[in-house]
Amino acid sequence: MSRRTSRSRRPAAAGPRSTPAPQVTPASPCPCGLPAGYAECCGRLHAGAAAPTCEALMRSRYAAFVVRDAGYLLRTWHPDHRPDVLDLDPGQRWQGLEVLGTTEGSAFHTTGTVTFRAHYEVGGHPGSLHEKSRFVRYGGAWVYEAAVFAD
Ligand SMILES: [Zn+2]
Repeated sequence: MSRRTSRSRRPAAAGPRSTPAPQVTPASPCPCGLPAGYAECCGRLHAGAAAPTCEALMRSRYAAFVVRDAGYLLRTWHPDHRPDVLDLDPGQRWQGLEVLGTTEGSAFHTTGTVTFRAHYEVGGHPGSLHEKSRFVRYGGAWVYEAAVFAD
């Protein structure tokens, strides 16, 4: 035992600080749910590749929540709408993404939407986010603008 400081209590098992970051390796299945490995899928976008479609950007942003890449989330958020800082809840574990529908958002468009449901767990309690997100081109690249609705 190397720890010499005395602590009267351990952190609660279900406490928000007790959850380690999920281990996603380059060879892991991509957290966004597509069959490709993370390095070949959203990992490329996290490393700087441009998202070809709104859906690809949305998937990569979901995967960024999973791997806790707040910098990527801010870079791909329209500067007029993004927060100054983004604190990701360490107790929130994202568990899966369903893309329910898209409009426009291809190489031929300048706007688009993606409707999705993202599943998560906090302190052992399941939850989900149902959102329709709006994306626009900014400086040629797709960025997240805002939620059209979220429930
Ligand atoms: Zn992916």
